[in-house]
Formats: sequence, structure tokens, C-alpha cells
Amino acid sequence: MLGQMMDDALTITSLMKFAARVFPDTEIVSVTGDNPRHRSTFGEAFTRVHQLANALAKLGCAPGDRIATLAWNDYRHFELYYGISSSGYVCHTINPRLFPEQISYIANHAEDQWVFVDPVFVPMLEQLQDALTTVRGYVILTSKAAMPETTLKNVRCYEELIEGESENFDWPELDENSACSLCYTSGTTGNPKGVLYSHRSTVLHSLGTNSKATLGLAPDETIMPVVPMFHVNAWGCVYGAAMAGTKLVFPGPKMGDGETLAALINEESVTFAMGVPTVWLALLNYLQESGSKVETLQRLVVGGAACPRSLMEAMDTYGVAMHVGWGMTEMSPLGTYNTLLPWMNDLPEQEKLDYRLKAGRLIYGVEMRIASEDGKELPWDGKTPGRLQVRGPWVCKSYYKLDQSDAHLPDGWFDTGDVATIDQYGFMQITDRTKDVIKSGGEWISSIDVENAAMGHEDVAEAAVIGVPHPKWTERPLLIVVKRPGSDPQKNDLLAYLDGKIAKWWIPEDCVFVDEIPHTATGKMSKKDLRDMFNDYSY
Ligand code: ADP
Repeated sequence: MLGQMMDDALTITSLMKFAARVFPDTEIVSVTGDNPRHRSTFGEAFTRVHQLANALAKLGCAPGDRIATLAWNDYRHFELYYGISSSGYVCHTINPRLFPEQISYIANHAEDQWVFVDPVFVPMLEQLQDALTTVRGYVILTSKAAMPETTLKNVRCYEELIEGESENFDWPELDENSACSLCYTSGTTGNPKGVLYSHRSTVLHSLGTNSKATLGLAPDETIMPVVPMFHVNAWGCVYGAAMAGTKLVFPGPKMGDGETLAALINEESVTFAMGVPTVWLALLNYLQESGSKVETLQRLVVGGAACPRSLMEAMDTYGVAMHVGWGMTEMSPLGTYNTLLPWMNDLPEQEKLDYRLKAGRLIYGVEMRIASEDGKELPWDGKTPGRLQVRGPWVCKSYYKLDQSDAHLPDGWFDTGDVATIDQYGFMQITDRTKDVIKSGGEWISSIDVENAAMGHEDVAEAAVIGVPHPKWTERPLLIVVKRPGSDPQKNDLLAYLDGKIAKWWIPEDCVFVDEIPHTATGKMSKKDLRDMFNDYSY
């Protein structure tokens, strides 16, 4: 017997209509290339979204067309998110930090029709435009006064494009399963792969992640997404904020600038922010050097990579609670989130920290398991590492224009490529990515645990661990360290420092110093590049 409830479609259009009606006065504050503080509201932004929809139709966009963005986090990018998807097109956010060849590969693979681009990325696109075979034209995200000189062909100015357009638009009735946005993984192995989100998956992800057990966005909060809008839709918070009426503060091109982040937090009373560990390290360094405080900031989500223990401890001293979240592009992205069970709050500080540093517990909507190499499910005992596999309505089942076999779906579960343990309380901990795992004498060493232990040393600015060939143990870990400016740690002292913090046989055989650790386009340490750098190294 079927239920007898309405089956209204879960669409981004419905989210927009809701926010425009219920939270028209909620503020959106942006830093842009030409304005250090642009202020608008949901009401104003959604009016402009209607104008944008009319302009997109006039550009000749057809249902399902991929429209690309190459832009930082700001109000115009916000308008594109809603205007493109609600019109029935696909908002394809491209990561401008990728290599130019990757950008042209992605744009051609997606068959992008138009590219909406921040002025700062125009020179790069000028170099690339001959390689972009499907793009019909470019729209520069700026005002008429700030339009740069450019050799881009068929180019428009965003403000001119929407100016004078009608503030009414007849939104199409969309199937909730139709595609709304597209994001390519950074492609650490092989070519980048496209993850094609649907309206339904996006709305369900927002509902799932907006519960109080997870992000818990609310009208009395102010959120600053420091995670880029080209990185898995800023982890979904641009939709979540509309659903909850939460004020948005967009840092524009100033993502990694601790001083700007601190100023935005203090001037706009930011209570909540999201980003990868690197940006919180930048904020922390600024606070420590300047003696500034961030008194309104209550909590941070840290994800995308493991959170160093020293970072979480230091943020505690500023009264900022860091919550670890885990997910990936293929998961919209959130799968787990760390909030302690009530009894854990009474644990001694260091034990509590052990739990807080884990990737957290499942959020409703995602299922997970760990499996052995031969696909057998492994116990949740907090000790046994296994391949982490997930499923759920916001997990991808295949990549754009690729066969389902490319999506690693053993028995209908998506294999994340992560290796993890899960404890008896359901706290998951990432120990490695399958391709970064170090296998020493047949046993796995968690490079993440070793890195975190090394990062606790006061003279270490950044630390990475990779496996290098070893005649007896097949592989042994090598510690690669960037020294903190002004310090000169010795390798034996650093290795001795690890004693007692990790299993003895996990202690790296050697430690080398580098000026810089290479990072991927999403700000994570690039183990692939490190392995290339130390290709000739062996024990
Ligand atoms: P990429 O950086 O390869 O484009 P994603 O941004 O989708 O891909 O990153 C997903 C990966 O980031 C996960 O599979 C996992 O390895 C890593 N990751 C995400 N969150 C965490 C976390 N809290 N702790 C450790 N690793 C994490």
C-alpha cells in the first residue's frame, strides 16, 4: 500500500523560493576583487537571480546545458548557484587552482557552454580559450566600470548582462532527479572525474547536514565558508544557509589570509566557519602573531584532511571548538561529523581530544562499513583498519560520462579509497588513503597518525610521511618536515620526540627537511608529488 502524501519535488528552486519568502532580510556579506565589503540580502540576491535566469535564457542556454564558473566565494557566485540550477542548467564549478591542462580537459569533458569568470582568472582563460572547444562565450563577474581589457572572445560583463532584465521568471517544473551541479575530483590518479549532483541529492544533503546533530545552522548564526564554492559546493553550506536563514560571509579571494579572516569574523560576528586545516593554521598563526581574538567565533568545521592535534588544542585556548567532518566530492560531501556523546564530555582532556580528533559518527542518510581486501565486512572495534565504503541518497553511483565500473561499487557500496577504523561507539577514524598506505612487514602504518604526532613538535610547521622501499620490511616511513621559521630542529630530536606518541615500529627510519611541501588544488598535502620528489630515496 502506498502512502498518500504529496510528492512535491525536492529542488533548489524550492529552496530559493522558501528563502526569498521566509528569510528575505538575511544578510550576505562578500569580499570581492573590487569591493572589500559588499553587502546584500537573500531578498536582493534572489531578485538578481531572477534577472540572471532571464539573461541565461537569452544567451541561448538549453535544459541540461553545463554552465561553468571559475570564481571565488562571493555573492555573484551565490547567484549563479541558484540561477543556473533553478533554470534547469547544470552549474559546473571549476577549481581555478588546477593546472591549465586539467581545466581545459574538464571544461571540454563537461562540454561547458558559457564560463562565468572572476576578473582575476581572465588572463589564465585568455591563454586557454583556444583549447576550450565547446565554450560559446565568457561572462566576467564584475561591474562595467571594473571590466578588464581582454582578448576573450564573445565576452560580456555580468552586471550589464543582468541589468534591466525582468525581476520575474517562470521557473521550469524540474524533475527532482535532474542534474543541478557538477564538480570534478582533483584527479590525484588519472584524469579528473565528474560528480553530477541532482536537485534531490542536494536538498537531502542540506536537510541531513542541517540537523542539530550535525552542522545545525540557524537564523541566529553567521557562517563563513572558507572552503571554496568550487570545492564540493562549499560543503553544501550555501544551500544549508538558505534553508536555515543563516547570514553568509564570503571571504572572496582572501581565503588563506589569516588577517582578513580574523577581521571578517570580528566585524561580521561570524559564529561558525568551515575550511581545510591549512586555512585554520593561517588564522591561528595570525592570532598568535597579532595577539588578536575572535570572540564571536564559537565553532569551526575542519575537514578535507586530518586535523592536527596541536591545531585543535590551540583553537580551544581561543574558545573555538573545532569539529571534524569527513566526506568527499562523491558524497556531496558530508558522511560523518564529530560531536561527542554526552558522557565523553566528562573524560580527561587528552582522552576527550582523542575522540574529538576522529572523523566522527555517521549522519542520517549515509551508511558506512569497513571491508577487507576481499570484501568481507570488518568489526567496529577501533583497531581493525579496512577499506571504507559508503552508500546513501547523496553518494554518487557513477561518474559523469563514465561507466558504472569506474565508480568502484562493490556490492552497491561506494569504495571511498580511504582506509579507516570504526570504534564501538561508531567513531570513524581515517588512517590513510589506500594509495598512501605504508605497508611495513605486511602491516599497515597510518601515515596520518605519524604526521599528526610530528606536527605536535613546536619547531615543525608542516610534516608529511610517505613510504619508501626497504630491503627487509618492503616499505618504511620517511618523515618530511618543513621547519617553523626561525627554528632549527635536528632530525634525531624529531624522531626521538615521536617515541611514546606512536607505536615504536611506526617511527620513521629517517627525517628529511624541505622548504615546502607540495599541495593539491584543494589545499591538501600532495603525497603523489612527494613520492615523485623522493623517487630515488631508499633505505
Ligand atoms: P580531492 O581532494 O581528491 O579532490 P575530496 O576533496 O573529495 O577529493 O577529498 C576527499 C578525501 O579527503 C577523503 O576521501 C579523505 O581521504 C580526505 N578527507 C576528508 N575529510 C577528512 C578528514 N576529516 N580526515 C582525514 N581525511 C579526510
